[in-house]
Amino acid sequence: MKAWIVWLIVALAAFWGSAALAEDPGAHRAKAVKVTTLSTMLSDLDGFGEWGYAALVEVDGRRILFDTGANPDIVLKNAEALNIDLSNVEDVVISHFHGDHTGGLITLRKAMMAKNPAALSHVFAGAGIFEPRYRSGGVPETDYDFNVVAAAYRATGGRITELAGATELAPGVWLTGPVPRVHDETNYGQSIFVKVDGKLVVDTVREDTSLVIATAGGAVIVTGCGHAGIMNIAEDAKAITGDARLVAVIGGIHLFSAPDKVLVETAARLKGLSYLFAAHCTGIEATFRLRELLGLDRRTAVVAAVGSSFTLGKGIDAGRIAGWKG
Ligand SMILES: [Zn+2]
Ligand SMILES: [Zn+2]
Repeated sequence: MKAWIVWLIVALAAFWGSAALAEDPGAHRAKAVKVTTLSTMLSDLDGFGEWGYAALVEVDGRRILFDTGANPDIVLKNAEALNIDLSNVEDVVISHFHGDHTGGLITLRKAMMAKNPAALSHVFAGAGIFEPRYRSGGVPETDYDFNVVAAAYRATGGRITELAGATELAPGVWLTGPVPRVHDETNYGQSIFVKVDGKLVVDTVREDTSLVIATAGGAVIVTGCGHAGIMNIAEDAKAITGDARLVAVIGGIHLFSAPDKVLVETAARLKGLSYLFAAHCTGIEATFRLRELLGLDRRTAVVAAVGSSFTLGKGIDAGRIAGWKG
């Protein structure tokens, strides 16, 4: 074979190889990212605070509702107050079964499907969300039974996809599914149980799922209650994106009663984080302590309010009520 033919084959193979690499879904980096808080304890003008979490995640034109708040109508009212139309959002992530994240799902689906039948029609949740839960003494936990929520949701025509592991929902937008618990974190309550081999053991909320956005600067993490532990979630986000850098941690990370040594270890594991947009069960004291330990300031480590948002490349906007520019 003539040398130039060999070189042509080699060059074409290299071209095809790089084209295949460019199409590798794991390699995609999102460009435009905005996360707007729709449920947490504090609220901007005209909205309502509650113990719960919800956020609208917008990535390169794709809109995703992450959790749905606690009360049936709070996220609906807050979205209206903020002039946010959820009727063109199809995908909903339910981070875990607790009622302060699932409470608005049915109201929102029914209200939005009146405008668009596909609105909020597809729920994604981690494997384990349907597992039966118990109170002490083995009394079935009925207040937050996701099987009940799911039946009402399916009755509206909605479908639910359970995730066994990391899944790319849209280019550069990942759902962790159940997160490997490599660090010994206990960011969950001790009063709900599951049955293992017939015995009651404390529920670790194994389905706890976070949303991870791969960007050119590292991962943006959105988490509901962070029951998997933010150190574990950060580890998972790094593995998913193939990038050790973290841009932002957004949402609840359940550290409101954590001892100081846990906050110190958490900050060490989140070293280099640029933004902490802490909501819900993170706790105000824990947010300020993490701010100090991470070397962040009042612009980059903030207690979120309904209406406040994070935009990649711009940072945290406290919302209309703050009104401070400059
Ligand atoms: Zn929870
Ligand atoms: Zn919660």
